[in-house]
Amino acid sequence: MKIDKLKNQIPENITVVAVSKRKSNKEILEVYNKNHKDFGENRVQELIIKNNDLPKDIRWHMIGKLQRNKVKFIAPFIHLIHSVDSYKLLLEIEKQAKKNQRVINVLLQIKISNDETKSGLSFNETRNILNNHEQQNIKIIGLMGMGSLDISKNESEFIEISNFYQKSKDIFNFKYLSLGMSGDYKLAIKNNSNMIRVGSLIFGERN
Ligand SMILES: *Cc1c(COP(=O)(O)O)cnc(C)c1O
Repeated sequence: MKIDKLKNQIPENITVVAVSKRKSNKEILEVYNKNHKDFGENRVQELIIKNNDLPKDIRWHMIGKLQRNKVKFIAPFIHLIHSVDSYKLLLEIEKQAKKNQRVINVLLQIKISNDETKSGLSFNETRNILNNHEQQNIKIIGLMGMGSLDISKNESEFIEISNFYQKSKDIFNFKYLSLGMSGDYKLAIKNNSNMIRVGSLIFGERN
């Protein structure tokens, strides 16, 4: 689906992150040229190269598993890190943000699925971080979740994280609930997601 068509189908307040992993600069520029600026990647190496080669006003979103020793490579330019799945990672982002004299926006990734391949914090760990972390060069501006591969489980998973989000958002000044991909973005939006991460629906299947 073309990016404009997708945006026309959903409410205006919802941010679409075009997930461009494994897609070429040419394919990315086609979407960028429709006046789209938010792109998501899940590998640091690929992200660094694309950030170098592509227009400087692209807002890059890190959506994949992030190793602590790689934070320093993206800290100078990253727009939003969706995938903070441990307190140690949060501290490393804080440190690298300080070094770069910037404030880095992050989301806490909550594990809402039992799939082994998915990482994330438990609701309790999330609560602990939110209540105890002194934010200086980091700003926690919301939550991220990934539904199970078994889509019959997605509705209850989305309802759970959405309830938690609704209860916490005024207390912690949250802006975003990042939930939903190509296959489940409509269900995510129904459950209060206002940031969806869509790859294959925009760019076609990945190799
Ligand atoms: C790849 C990926 C997406 C996009 O998946 P599609 O099914 O292609 O839309 C969304 N979120 C994360 C974390 C991803 O790794």
